[in-house]
Amino acid sequence: MTQDETNQNKPAGNDQGRRNFLKGSAAAVGAGLAASVPGMASAADSDCEMKNPYGARPGGGISLPDYYKPWPAIKNRNVFMPGTEILPKNEMRISFLGSTPWPPTRLQSGTSILVELGNGESQPRRFFFDLGNGSISNAIAMQVPAPLINDIFISHLHSDHFADLPYMYPFRAFSGGYTPLRVYGPSGRTPELGMKHMIKHMREMNRWHEENFNACPIGDGMEIEVTEFDWKEENGICYDKDGVKVRHWPRSHVKDGASAYRLDWEDAGLSFVWTGECRPDE
Ligand SMILES: [Zn+2]
Repeated sequence: MTQDETNQNKPAGNDQGRRNFLKGSAAAVGAGLAASVPGMASAADSDCEMKNPYGARPGGGISLPDYYKPWPAIKNRNVFMPGTEILPKNEMRISFLGSTPWPPTRLQSGTSILVELGNGESQPRRFFFDLGNGSISNAIAMQVPAPLINDIFISHLHSDHFADLPYMYPFRAFSGGYTPLRVYGPSGRTPELGMKHMIKHMREMNRWHEENFNACPIGDGMEIEVTEFDWKEENGICYDKDGVKVRHWPRSHVKDGASAYRLDWEDAGLSFVWTGECRPDE
């Protein structure tokens, strides 16, 4: 039994006391009114129990009724406590790690969406769509273990969509991510405008850092496997593994080489669509 269910079942002493107090107050007020308003006494004397129609409160505030539970993993109806809920099988959790291009603020990071596919275990299957500035700090705050950050799909090469990549990948290896990082993204009109080119030169930019961390145990964690697909392809498949397919198609975003993605999770019959930086119907 969860803490929440326990709270639901046991009579809450404080609530009971407060309820009786309110009943007493209502009776007193009613009695006062009855002295001056004929007919009010019968209403005040009736024993109408005051209680929250939505059930006991787990942590304060209004609770959701039992018949309304977006998914069974939700135990506390008021807050999400990262790392405390096991995502059940066939349930998808979508979390925005960031959502702004510019300017960054203390409350809003660069664009990134974490898609988690529940398996009933403590570590769900994860996919990242874009990895903008500041998003990694939110992934860590979501209790995502750094070594398990992988499968990153970049919609286009505006830096607010990948700025945390050069920062994150060496530290991922350093902190135990000993397997190669997998990154997916579109080609460009010329090779220099595509994902492979960006990743190659990002690693050049990080050469000092990579060589420095070679002194640490990193395994193959510094390697980056790039899946660069043809940006012009409609409904191309850039990921197909263990019942999950990710498709892509071109988007209009000032310049050639921007993509949208659709993740289809066959077993669960669930899909997620990320159109990058364009309207959903374009
Ligand atoms: Zn953009």
